[in-house]
Amino acid sequence: MSAAISRRSALKGAGVLGLSAISFGASAKPAPKAYHWNRSAEVLVAGGGCAGCMAALWAAKAGRKVLLVQATGFLGGSSAISSGWIRSVNTKWHKARGIKDTVEAYRDNILEYGNGTRDPEKALVIAKESATFVDFLQSIGVEFTNDEDRANGGPTLRVVKTKGAGASLMEHLAEKVSQTKSIEVQVATRITDVILDPAGKKVIGAVIQKDGGKPVYVKTSAVVLATGGFGRNQAIIEKYTNEWKKTGRIMDARDNGDGLKIASNLGAGTANLAIAMVCPTLHVESNTFYSSAPILNGGIIVNEKGRRFVNEYIIYTTTDREMLKQKKCWEIVSEPMHATVTQMIKNGHAKRCDTVEDLARVIGCQADGLKADIEEHNRITRTAPEKRHDRFGRTVYGKELTAPFYILHINPVMIETVGGFTVNARSEVTTLFGRPIARGLYGAGACAFGEHFGVGYRSGEAYVYAGVTGLVAGREAARVAA
Ligand SMILES: Cc1cc2nc3c(=O)[nH]c(=O)nc-3n(C[C@H](O)[C@H](O)[C@H](O)COP(=O)(O)OP(=O)(O)OC[C@H]3O[C@@H](n4cnc5c(N)ncnc54)[C@H](O)[C@@H]3O)c2cc1C
Repeated sequence: MSAAISRRSALKGAGVLGLSAISFGASAKPAPKAYHWNRSAEVLVAGGGCAGCMAALWAAKAGRKVLLVQATGFLGGSSAISSGWIRSVNTKWHKARGIKDTVEAYRDNILEYGNGTRDPEKALVIAKESATFVDFLQSIGVEFTNDEDRANGGPTLRVVKTKGAGASLMEHLAEKVSQTKSIEVQVATRITDVILDPAGKKVIGAVIQKDGGKPVYVKTSAVVLATGGFGRNQAIIEKYTNEWKKTGRIMDARDNGDGLKIASNLGAGTANLAIAMVCPTLHVESNTFYSSAPILNGGIIVNEKGRRFVNEYIIYTTTDREMLKQKKCWEIVSEPMHATVTQMIKNGHAKRCDTVEDLARVIGCQADGLKADIEEHNRITRTAPEKRHDRFGRTVYGKELTAPFYILHINPVMIETVGGFTVNARSEVTTLFGRPIARGLYGAGACAFGEHFGVGYRSGEAYVYAGVTGLVAGREAARVAA
């Protein structure tokens, strides 16, 4: 069997992209003339997080034999350390609560938050298949909490929260994958390249490598890239996401941008590489990440002077940017705000303060300004929702800050890169302008975030994106597989 990598599609892609074409350099090596295939797979899925597991399961469900390769020694990825909030509509969970919602309303909401940057066809698929994803999770034993918290993302209750967070969700998904006979899992194995036919029109194979081993040439006509983000690749971060180059990271150890490199070297478009999902709530002393839920439900952030300085509600961008300008930041919350506070107390990370003066002593500041800020915050919380507005532009409030207060020394932390290569509504990898790169090349999850997020990311959107683009990629890959 012989074939050659064609660079035609890469060159075409680069031509279309003009100055925004990105090369990560891996394609500089000369294309070998012939391959000796070491093995074959009907569908090859790379990456064993939520997106990759869903892709593998859906391809298997469609009757295909799947090889799933995972860089680390186990399935999970960032999906397993995630909070497991999933934005969705019309799931069994929603129906059981009598929540009336429509796919179209969710689609419109996705588009509205994208500020005109998101693909309407893809947004519709995410909205429509969100229930397929969440109901499937429920069917394999994933449980969701009864937490009906509407603070994050408007008046319609769309976010379902996984009991036991991403760890529990991925345990169930990994179990399902391992029970599925037609999926073969190879851990400690990375995808390093995708091979196209000489015309550059279709996938004919891929290269995988077990840690420290020789390259293995896999004959296949369908590849799903689901290798996660690029937050662990300092060189790419410094080049494209430079603003956050010194920010701490919590994500899968192998989020090195492998899928991004492979796809862009074949001519894929990229978008939003400069943007990252940075959360304000890493407990500094213990390096523990806590959900921002207590802040969304009424908590505040103050600086070393004990003063508020930002709208805490814009948690993924502006809040963090402003935090980087302060010498030190503190989260102040009360226990009734959210179960997360109880967890912080249990872990011994949140300090109890019975008075504002105690809070000021912990911070090392004067109490007067802090007292004024807490009083103002509580006064606005008590006013009618439509009149709530403070000098930093915060309009969403939850519960009042009441004693005993709890205080936590925090820093921003990057939990995800928001950019990636572009895919269409069928999860096919495309050029920046939407032309599929090659038959049989799919992308799903964080490596394929593409145009979808930008600055409009909200909690629960990344997980549903991973699940839905995964299942769509698996289904489509099964169709073209030979
Ligand atoms: C702390 C934290 C909290 C979060 N909370 C939420 C939340 O509540 N709601 C939400 O919507 N989103 C949340 N997110 C984001 C969300 O979890 C991710 O966007 C999503 O899980 C990404 O899934 P994925 O399958 O694309 O990537 P991953 O789960 O990272 O999986 C990718 C896998 O690919 C593997 N890999 C890498 N390179 C290769 C290679 N070359 N070959 C083979 N395998 C490879 C990696 O080891 C990894 O296992 C959170 C993220 C973090 C870190």
